[in-house]
Amino acid sequence: QSAADILRQRIRTVADWPQAGVQFRDITPVLQDPVSFRLMVQTLVVRYMPQHIDVVAGIDARGFILGAVVAHELNVGFVPVRKKGKLPFTTVSEEYELEYGSATVELHTDAVKPGDRVLLIDDLIATGGTMMAAKKLIERLGGAIVEGAAIVDLPELGGSALLRAAGLELFTLVDYA
Ligand code: 5GP
Repeated sequence: QSAADILRQRIRTVADWPQAGVQFRDITPVLQDPVSFRLMVQTLVVRYMPQHIDVVAGIDARGFILGAVVAHELNVGFVPVRKKGKLPFTTVSEEYELEYGSATVELHTDAVKPGDRVLLIDDLIATGGTMMAAKKLIERLGGAIVEGAAIVDLPELGGSALLRAAGLELFTLVDYA
């Protein structure tokens, strides 16, 4: 059984949440189980340890949980990409479109230095809007993204294809067609 198979078995699908018609892929059972939590973290650590990473950027909010542990294991720092209005220091911010309305993510201006090699982490890629906005923030500060990593990809929503077309290397573990 591969790591991806074990994680897939742990991920819970919740129908009609947060709204009717949505199949929400819930990763909290992966975090709750010590074996699958470790497997998830180790898979990323083993992949990125041989590469030169300066900093891990994790996306609000589940990307913080995974990203912080991976950063700690890689012995590099962690920076949060947060939803609007949460970061206290000066920020760069990026607005992006949702199905209904828009959202904004922010990053502290000193979170990434020009030339930094950044590993960008979230739990899941759906339309790709969130990771695309995070990519823009990091690049506006002069960072070079080594790869975007997520546990789950929903390829039918087209986000991963869009991100790859924009030049982002992506690594995902579990796909839901
Ligand atoms: P996107 O911007 O790619 O459409 O949506 C991805 C963002 O929304 C991620 O930050 C992710 O945490 C959250 N998200 C959207 N759908 C799901 C889902 O089914 N499961 C989980 N765990 N997160 C989701």
